[in-house]
Amino acid sequence: MPLQKTDAELIQLDKELLWHPYTSMSHPTPHFLIKKAEGSRITLSNNQTLIDGMSSWWSVIHGYNHPTINEAMKSQIDDFSHVMFGGLTHEPAIELANTLIKITPKELSRVFFSDSGSVAVEVALKMAIQYWHSAGNPDKKRFITPKNGYHGDTFAAMSVCDPVNGMHNLFKGTLTEQFFIPSPPTGIDTPIDEKYLARIHQLIKKHHTEIAGFILEPVVQNAGGMRFYNPMYLDRIKTLCDDFNILLIFDEIATGFGRTGKMFATNHCNITPDIMCVGKALTGGYITLAATITNDKVALGISDKGGVFMHGPTFMGNPLACSAANASLSLLASYDLENLITNIETNLSKSLNKCKALENVANIRCFGAIGVVELITPIDQHRIQPLFVEQGVWIRPFGKLIYLMPPFVITNKEIETLGDAIYNVIASLEQ
Ligand SMILES: *Cc1c(COP(=O)(O)O)cnc(C)c1O
Repeated sequence: MPLQKTDAELIQLDKELLWHPYTSMSHPTPHFLIKKAEGSRITLSNNQTLIDGMSSWWSVIHGYNHPTINEAMKSQIDDFSHVMFGGLTHEPAIELANTLIKITPKELSRVFFSDSGSVAVEVALKMAIQYWHSAGNPDKKRFITPKNGYHGDTFAAMSVCDPVNGMHNLFKGTLTEQFFIPSPPTGIDTPIDEKYLARIHQLIKKHHTEIAGFILEPVVQNAGGMRFYNPMYLDRIKTLCDDFNILLIFDEIATGFGRTGKMFATNHCNITPDIMCVGKALTGGYITLAATITNDKVALGISDKGGVFMHGPTFMGNPLACSAANASLSLLASYDLENLITNIETNLSKSLNKCKALENVANIRCFGAIGVVELITPIDQHRIQPLFVEQGVWIRPFGKLIYLMPPFVITNKEIETLGDAIYNVIASLEQ
């Protein structure tokens, strides 16, 4: 039965009962009660409508309440919402695996479904360790990764997140110590720095007998700093990995499904990773689902001498989630994706460029459907969040970064409004 409460009472109850992401129970940040979301708009309980600049953490690529995905899920509910994946299988999962194999680079051929991005990363790391175990190299069980990365909040995923901005200090001693290299120099067109690659080479040469895999976010480091880098580094890192028997793992959880202007960020370079993780936008942001996709070498290697892959979540391959993903991917296939994202990129640049004139702005950068305004001094989230709502937009900055990752259905006019709101909020704080 619905709670018989006013909006203010609901918000108060939320404060008393609920944790939100990365928040304090004693000093919670403000939270806004919403009652509907449609297309690129979120409607608050007071009927104010906000333009969405976040795609709900980059996942709702087709906008909210999309009739095609709604229909697919409703139809699946009428058949069955869930069955165990041990011993049973179903068409939604088979169809989704088949599509993923088709749209990812051709060597990727085997799919493991899990519930969230973090778990997809756990699965990828486990695959790498099990692969080397089966291959008679049980010492290869650590990972190398660039600083400023973000791969999720579970323990193995945390161990490969940025060691300073991540949660390393707090969990020191409980996390596996991994090998960190500096993050790639920023700028998509910045020429390759041979010295940087030589440093990686040196580290790998020294420790390769312990290293199972190299994990990174291709082309864009996301939650660890919204940094863009030259895709050629990926080609060069792949060569290093091949030379020293290291599996290459791409975490495409943020970049997958068009965000960078190609279906996957991997498509900006000429190589294929051994393992790739996808999540976030996989279901069009409707429901949680992730996948870890690998090649025959890794999949069959793990199964060598009767080995089985040691993972199997309760809700593995959830049919309702798979049906949402199938509908989302059919929508994506119907778009002229590269042109659509190029248009968003052009308009993001246009709308954010005026922020250059502001004193507290250090840098503005756009790549694909990602627009970033980096500040000189960090902003206070408690203070800035209500200011954005006053401007009629939903934007959630972190640290020094105010960024936009709008749904792909955003209009040019809405992008302009988002940019104006960012300008107005930063300007008002400078007064
Ligand atoms: C969000 C994210 C994750 C974690 O996914 P969850 O679904 O939040 O567990 C992992 N890697 C990257 C690159 C992400 O952006």
